[in-house]
Amino acid sequence: MEKIYKFCQSCGMPLKKDVKGGGTNADGSKNLKFCSLCYADGKFTRPDFTAKQMQELVKGKMKEMGIPGFLTPFFTYGIPKLERWRN
Ligand SMILES: [Zn+2]
Repeated sequence: MEKIYKFCQSCGMPLKKDVKGGGTNADGSKNLKFCSLCYADGKFTRPDFTAKQMQELVKGKMKEMGIPGFLTPFFTYGIPKLERWRN
């Protein structure tokens, strides 16, 4: 059984909110571990990113969405614990 992920294991976005419903594998199938912004055609869209850079990017995105700054650490705090950033 494949594990079901609720959140993208790269940026922490709820996969339900992903307009494309997940990333895409090299063969065109859906990747349900990462969102479409992080993972496309079997590769990470930002392969050189660190967890810290991802946190900054997500904070910036949330600001664009009008989410108050004091709330963003709550959402980005868990990013380094996601599967992409372990080891
Ligand atoms: Zn993502």
